[in-house]
Amino acid sequence: MLRYAEVLLDVANRRFDQSYHYLVPEHFVAIEIGMRVLVNLQNRKVQGLVVGVSTELPEELEGKTLKPVLEIIDAHSLVPTELIELADWLAKTTLCSKAQSLHTVWPLLKGKMEKKVILLASPDDLDVKALRWLDEDAFRAIEVLARTRKKEISRSVFLKRAGISEETFDLLVQKGFVRQEHSFMTMGAKGRRREATVPSSQELKERTYKLSLEQEAVVNDVKISLETGSFQTFLLHGVTGSGKTEVYRELIAHVLSQGGDAILLVPEISLTAQMARYFETQFRDKVIILHSGLGAKEKALSWEEILSGDKRIVIGARSAVFAPLANLRLVILDEEHDGAYKQDENPKYHAREVARKRMEQVGGVVLLGSATPSLEAYAAAKAGKIRLLTMTRRIGNSFLPPVEIVDMRKELMQGNRSMFSRVLLQKLRERLELGEQTMLFLNRRGYSTFVVCRECGYVVNCPNCDVALTYHSQGQSMRCHYCDHKEQPPLTCPHCGSRYIRFFGQGTQRVEEELQGLLPEASILRLDFDTTRNHAAHTTILESFRQQKASILVGTQMMAKGLDFPNVTLVGVIAADQMLNMPDFRAKERTFQLLTQVAGRAGRSVKPGEVVIQTYSPGDSAIEKAAHHDFEGFFWEEIRYRKGRKYPPFTHIIRVLLLHEKEERVILGANSLGACLRGRMQDPKFGNTDLDILGPAQAVMARVKNQWRWQISVRGIIIEELRELVHQGIQDFFKSSASNGIILNIEADPLTN
Ligand code: ADP
Ligand code: ZN
Ligand code: ZN
Repeated sequence: MLRYAEVLLDVANRRFDQSYHYLVPEHFVAIEIGMRVLVNLQNRKVQGLVVGVSTELPEELEGKTLKPVLEIIDAHSLVPTELIELADWLAKTTLCSKAQSLHTVWPLLKGKMEKKVILLASPDDLDVKALRWLDEDAFRAIEVLARTRKKEISRSVFLKRAGISEETFDLLVQKGFVRQEHSFMTMGAKGRRREATVPSSQELKERTYKLSLEQEAVVNDVKISLETGSFQTFLLHGVTGSGKTEVYRELIAHVLSQGGDAILLVPEISLTAQMARYFETQFRDKVIILHSGLGAKEKALSWEEILSGDKRIVIGARSAVFAPLANLRLVILDEEHDGAYKQDENPKYHAREVARKRMEQVGGVVLLGSATPSLEAYAAAKAGKIRLLTMTRRIGNSFLPPVEIVDMRKELMQGNRSMFSRVLLQKLRERLELGEQTMLFLNRRGYSTFVVCRECGYVVNCPNCDVALTYHSQGQSMRCHYCDHKEQPPLTCPHCGSRYIRFFGQGTQRVEEELQGLLPEASILRLDFDTTRNHAAHTTILESFRQQKASILVGTQMMAKGLDFPNVTLVGVIAADQMLNMPDFRAKERTFQLLTQVAGRAGRSVKPGEVVIQTYSPGDSAIEKAAHHDFEGFFWEEIRYRKGRKYPPFTHIIRVLLLHEKEERVILGANSLGACLRGRMQDPKFGNTDLDILGPAQAVMARVKNQWRWQISVRGIIIEELRELVHQGIQDFFKSSASNGIILNIEADPLTN
C-alpha cells in the first residue's frame, strides 16, 4: 500500500510551520514521525521533519502525483513517542493541523534549523602539506576549525571567524575537510529517559505545620491512587483559605520521593508569583518556573533543561502542561475553573484535557483544585467520572466573610446617583480610620455593554436565547450574539416605565476618579490592563499595596487570584451585573466564580473581613448563592438550566468563526457555510442524532483588527459526530465561490464568545 509522509519544512520566506506531503518509497520501511528527511522543494533539496505518516491523503491532494521522500536522516525519532501520540490526539480533538500541534507539544522545533559545519579530520591529523593547494583564506579557515574545541560550529559563526568567502567554503566541503549538515540547533535528542532518582532528604524541606484533618484525608486519598499506578482524576473542591497549596506541596513531595515528576499549572504565572516563590523555597533547584510570554528560543531552552533531568517540578501557565518530564506522575491544575486554561489560538486546547490525556498515557493522577469548580468538572464528579474531594473549612480560626448585597436601584430611588452605595462608602471610611485596607473590583471586559433599567433592574434579554442583548452604539441597536435577533433599545423600561434605562459599562479609571473625589484623603492604587502592561508594573503595584502604601486597590478580576493580604478587611464589588449580563450562557457561572473568589480575599488572617456586592439584580440566584457561599445550591440550579437549554456539559459545541475585511462578504460566506452544514445534516448518518446548528450570527466581537466576524455553531452530544459534520460542511463550503478569501477559525468547546 502506498504511504505518504507529511513533512514540515524550514524554507526561507515561508512560515516555518508549513507542511507538505511526499510519497514514501517502499524501502523506507522505518520512517516515523519525528525523523528528519530530505525532500525536494522547487528543485532544491531541503530538510524537513516528518509530522505524519499515513496511507491516506487529504482530500484536496487526492489524485495528484507527489514527489518522493529522498532520504531519511535519523535512525530514530527525535521526539518521545508519547508526545507524538499527544500531538496526534491534539490535532484531532482541536481540529488543527498536525504541524501546529507538534509545534505546541515540542517547541524545540521552533529552534532555527541551523547549518552546522563539522570538522571531519581531527586537527592533529591535518597534513599541512596536503593543504598546499589551498589559498591563504582556506588555510586560515582550517586553522580556525583546528582551534575550535568542539568539533561542530555553526556555519555563520565559522564564516565570520575565518573571514572566508562562500566559494572557499564550498571548496573545503568538496575537498572533504568539512562536512555541512543541516540540523535543528536544539532538537533535544539528548533527552533520553533517565533513571528515576529519589532526592536526598536534605534536598526536601520539611513542612512547617501539621496538616489539618481535611488536608490529611485529601492527601491520603490521592497518595493511594498514585500508588496504584492507574489513571485517575480528582477534583479538590476546597473553600478559599482551606489550604489547597499545602496539599499540592505535600503531594508533589510525595511524588518526588517516589522518583516521579510533577507539573503544577496556574492560570497566569504573574498573578501567582507568590505561590511560585513558595514552591521554590520548598523544592529549590528541582523547580523550574515557566513564565508566560516566553519567546520560542527561551522556551526551547527551558525544554532542554527539563529534558536534562535536573528539573523535576514544572510550574507554569497553560502550555507548561506539555513539559517533557520523563517520569511524570502528577499534574495539578490550580483554579481549574479559570478560562485562561483554554488557548484561543491553534491548537485551541484546554490544559485540563491535555493533562488528562498525558496521565492516561502513563497511569498518573490529575488533580483539579478550586474553590469554585467549573460546572463541567463538578458535574463529572457528581456523575462519578472523576473523584470528588472536599475541604470545607478555612485554616485556623478564620471564617468565610459575611457578604452584604446592596440594591443599587434603591440607591437611585433615594437620590444617590453615584456608583458607590452609601453602605460601601461608609465602610470605606471606617477602614480608612482603622488603617485597614480595601479592595474594589470591576469586571475586566469593558466591551460588553448591556441595557439595564436603573430603577427596577430590568435587563433586555434575547427572546430566543436567555442572554442579555448587547448594545451597539453604531446604528443604536441591540443584538443577540447567538441567534442574531435585533431590536431597538427601548426609550422607557418595558417593565416599570422608567426613563432611567440605559446602556451600562464602567471602567476602573472612572471608579478611581470618582472615589478620589469622594475620599480625597485616601491613597488609591489601580490595577488593570492599562496599568499593568508589563510584568514589573504589576508586581510593583501589588508590592506597594502589600506594604500598605495605599489603603485602597481598585482593579479588575485579575486581582481576585491567589493574593493574600492580611490587612485587607473589606472587599467591594462595584457592579456585579457587569458579568451577569454578558452575552454568554456561562455568565452566571462566571459571576458566581468571580464573586466567590473575590469574597475569599477578605479576612484571610486574624482580622475578620466583610464583603459588599453592589447590583441592580439583588435577587439573582448567582449573586445570592455566592453571598451565602453556597456552591452546591448554585450548581444544581445552574445544571438544570444548562440541561433545559441543551448547553454544555450536556452537549458539545463546535464553533466556526468566519473572517473577512468586507462585512457583506463575510455574511455571504456565513450563509453559504450554514447552507452547506444544513445540507450535510440531511445525510441519514446524522438523521437520528440531535445535532443542532446555531446561526449564522454576528460574533460578539463583531470586528477585530479590521476583520468582520460572523459565526456558526454546531451543537450535539457526540463530539465525533460534530467533528465529522463540520469537516464535511467545510469541504463543501470550500467548493463554493462564497468561500473565496474567507478565513475560518474553528474551535471545539469554546469557553468564550
Ligand atoms: P487556598 O489555596 O485553599 O485558598 P492556602 O493554601 O492559600 O488556601 O492556605 C491559606 C493559608 O493557610 C495560607 O497562609 C497557608 O500558609 C496556611 N496553611 C495552609 N495549611 C496549613 C496548616 N496545615 N497549618 C497552618 N497553616 C496552614
Ligand atoms: Zn424598569
Ligand atoms: Zn438570541
